[in-house]
Amino acid sequence: MILKTYYCPHSAHENCDCMKPKTGMIKQSLLEFPELQLDQSIVVGDAFTDEHLAERMNLRFYGINGKNYRDAFNSILDVAKEIAHE
Ligand SMILES: [Zn+2]
Repeated sequence: MILKTYYCPHSAHENCDCMKPKTGMIKQSLLEFPELQLDQSIVVGDAFTDEHLAERMNLRFYGINGKNYRDAFNSILDVAKEIAHE
């Protein structure tokens, strides 16, 4: 279930807390949805910054549309199918 989406509206020189791989967006989501369980959460992304964010928060990462990921998926739908089979 997707409760809300977050994005970083800043540019790199603004040194915000939400630009990946910084963890601000995840921390904000935990403030807004304290019932979230990080051990049941994942990161899906197409960039190394997404993977680094996942590492920083100890979250499982699924790479999509990338050629550099060992277990790359074609789409978020494929990730959902993979998770459903676990
Ligand atoms: Zn930002």
